[in-house]
Amino acid sequence: MRRRRKRKITLKRRLQWLGAWSVLIFAVLLTGGIVAGTFVGIRKFCDNYMQKKIREAAAAVHMNEKKTQSGRNSKPEKEGGNLQAEEEDMSQEGEEDQLEEALILVNKSFYLPTNYEIPLISLDNGQQIAEVMYGDLQNMLMDGARATKSTLLVSSGFRTSEKQEQLLKEEIEKNINAGMDEDEARKDALMTVAPAHYSEHETGLAVDIVSVANQRLDETQEDTAANQWLRENCADYGFILRYPRGKEDVTGFSYESWHFRYVGKAAAEEIMQRGITLEEYLGG
Ligand SMILES: [Zn+2]
Repeated sequence: MRRRRKRKITLKRRLQWLGAWSVLIFAVLLTGGIVAGTFVGIRKFCDNYMQKKIREAAAAVHMNEKKTQSGRNSKPEKEGGNLQAEEEDMSQEGEEDQLEEALILVNKSFYLPTNYEIPLISLDNGQQIAEVMYGDLQNMLMDGARATKSTLLVSSGFRTSEKQEQLLKEEIEKNINAGMDEDEARKDALMTVAPAHYSEHETGLAVDIVSVANQRLDETQEDTAANQWLRENCADYGFILRYPRGKEDVTGFSYESWHFRYVGKAAAEEIMQRGITLEEYLGG
């Protein structure tokens, strides 16, 4: 009898303990969730804010440059018609807005802001690109084809985050199949493929361009006449070679002779002439 009663009390106590622990664990998890949520929210806000500041600073630099330039180049006869001058001012403002948008920085430290949106347009082969660079891209492809007597092809333009994630997964699997362990495979894949939200292709402002005769994205691409022409002339159309050789530590990417990024003509000219990267350009 005594033993039985003792066991009953123990069971009741155990249930009480269990209840108390459940409440405690639930409270801890809830607090953790709230803290983590707040932290992520603050980080996102800071990242978006920094992107905005970087682009504003870059646009301001170029507005000043343009003002200095137009001051230098201004001819008296241009000041004749007020209406014409106003129209020029308005079209310049439109250009500045587009320029600011084209200077977005997406790399291994800066991910694409979640609220990012850009009007896209489809090319004949189904690849999509940002509408803002359509005219310049078409001109570059046509002039390049004429100069090199070859056909230039956009093999990759805009990508969704899902597509980017899939590409990274495929690259890791390829490395594992080649004999690397998982860590090694991932590290190696990340030198050529960015994770979702960290690829420039998600901005719609990056294009991989190949010669139709050689569509391989490897070191042989730079030997094609088309690629040589693109690297020499892309700045005239507002494009830069985004991942140059020798700048791997700045961009975080291996040299890619085929990956071009639209930044607008003023920025492209300065970046290509000085042999710098978008990171260095935006950083001053
Ligand atoms: Zn690319």
